[in-house]
Amino acid sequence: MCRKHVGAHVSAAGGVHHAVDNALAIGANAFALFTRNQRRWESKPLDAAVIAAFKTACTQHGFAARHILPHASYLINLGHPETEGREKSYAAFLDEMQRCEQLGLTRLNLHPGSHLRQISEAACITHIADSINHALEQTQNVSVVLENTAGQGSNMGHRFEQLAAIIAQVEDTSRIGVCVDTCHAFAAGYDLSTAAGTAAMLHALDETVGLRYLQGMHLNDSKTACGSHVDRHAPLGEGLIGLPCFTALMQDARLDDIPLILETTEPDRWAEEIRWLRGQVSD
Ligand SMILES: [Zn+2]
Ligand SMILES: [Zn+2]
Repeated sequence: MCRKHVGAHVSAAGGVHHAVDNALAIGANAFALFTRNQRRWESKPLDAAVIAAFKTACTQHGFAARHILPHASYLINLGHPETEGREKSYAAFLDEMQRCEQLGLTRLNLHPGSHLRQISEAACITHIADSINHALEQTQNVSVVLENTAGQGSNMGHRFEQLAAIIAQVEDTSRIGVCVDTCHAFAAGYDLSTAAGTAAMLHALDETVGLRYLQGMHLNDSKTACGSHVDRHAPLGEGLIGLPCFTALMQDARLDDIPLILETTEPDRWAEEIRWLRGQVSD
């Protein structure tokens, strides 16, 4: 039995409980999902029967909450320069946190936010941290897991120092974490094209944020060059990162208990990619 927890960001179409079936179908023992339509501001509350079906399926198939990484809507920008934009984002973010609570999930994966070139990075970071602090006060048992970004446009979180700066302003550090996306890190300038480069990235993360905050990873190859700041995922081994990075990650025991999630571009190949990843683990 592979000690790693590997899966993909699976579809929850028709209800979040279907995500569990979709994860099982590709041989996953971890998964990510959206708990609401990620392209809309409004969403219907979760149905009680769907919540019950989701919890039952997770228990039955042995998916622990810490191996499930729900992803928040891409519309949310907690660092928005304008009050109205921030309030709208906060309402959607709080709803996402409450959905996690209802589903018994303990982590919510979030892209930090963007300053839209209207405010400073420092001001943007403070807005993001303020919203996280409020949401943590209004909920229980759910942690916010900040994802590193490729740094496209004015997206924050492409340097680990920016993630560390947000965490430094979060009051309850027991409920904040980070998720490293390999494609985003590479596009942001961390050269993961070798095992040594991959180890150096994890070392940089440890020095800035601290590896104790690492609560998930997104395993994606990259169609774009290191430092391009353009986010284009590719199947493993078919991008400019290449396979040695993923072999190194699978052999790193520090990543044993966190969800390792594929967001690669060909869902038909997820089962094969998961099998290949598991094959990289040395016993
Ligand atoms: Zn990602
Ligand atoms: Zn991406």
